[in-house]
Amino acid sequence: MKLKIVRRIPDLRRVVRRAKRAGKTIGFVPTMGALHEGHLSLIRCARKETDLVVVSIFVNPIQFNNRTDLRSYPRALARDARLASAAGCDLLFVPSAGEIYPPGFQTFVEVTQLTRRWEGKLRPGHFRGVATVVAKLFNLVQPDVAYFGLKDAQQARVVGQMVRDLGFDLRLKVLPTVREPGGLAMSSRNQRLSPDERRGAKTLFESLQEGKQLIKWNSRRESGILRRMRAVIRKVPGARIEYLAVVDPETLEPMRRVKRPALLLLAVRVGKTRLIDCMEVR
Ligand code: AMP
Repeated sequence: MKLKIVRRIPDLRRVVRRAKRAGKTIGFVPTMGALHEGHLSLIRCARKETDLVVVSIFVNPIQFNNRTDLRSYPRALARDARLASAAGCDLLFVPSAGEIYPPGFQTFVEVTQLTRRWEGKLRPGHFRGVATVVAKLFNLVQPDVAYFGLKDAQQARVVGQMVRDLGFDLRLKVLPTVREPGGLAMSSRNQRLSPDERRGAKTLFESLQEGKQLIKWNSRRESGILRRMRAVIRKVPGARIEYLAVVDPETLEPMRRVKRPALLLLAVRVGKTRLIDCMEVR
């Protein structure tokens, strides 16, 4: 099927309605564009599992708490369309901000507990923006399956909670983090790293591996694990840790006595670029 690009909600609804009437299942991958292998792995999985694959590209203004970050977020529609299509996307939904938030818009979705810590604490309003736009996109696209990356682990949990709490009739699938050869988690923001910073950024992965190994060797003390992980990151010049944590994968609350399954979370600034990463320990 040839890739179709739609910008307006009524045009999206028409395609969705037609697919539903024909008994097709819909797979949905919400993104902010500047697509990379991480996004493409989600699209390919949707292609395998569902009949109509919808990808949205929307740099959601209300989830940015930093104007410079919003303004400098990479945008590359022609390239994105080519990549999405090659990965199996049927329909690309690229709404304007006004299409999603028309004048007078005033309804927001808030997931209260899961957003208290980590990204939620450092980026006030971020998850309210995410939950609101994802809820709206779910209503518009009406997917049977929605695909998210574990790379943004807190986001995936927040969306999962919202789906459960608000009764969205869909299945959420969270797929593993796709990494560059050195281990750096793929991210649209990696484009902002200088070659030196990029070399340093690989260390975040090494730190997560160190933490995972310690837990596998039965380290139980949170403080000891974090100390060793911190020591790895400190080797990188210009790296500034924003948080580093071992948490319960369900509640995202810190685990003082670490047990499995656990989730290691980190946010580190490398130069001017803020990177997040995580790793599951089963
Ligand atoms: P974004 O465009 O950054 O909003 O990401 C769109 C979706 O792609 C989210 O579900 C992300 O978690 C997912 N994603 C981003 N980077 C990766 C990655 N390196 N591996 C797997 N999924 C990713």
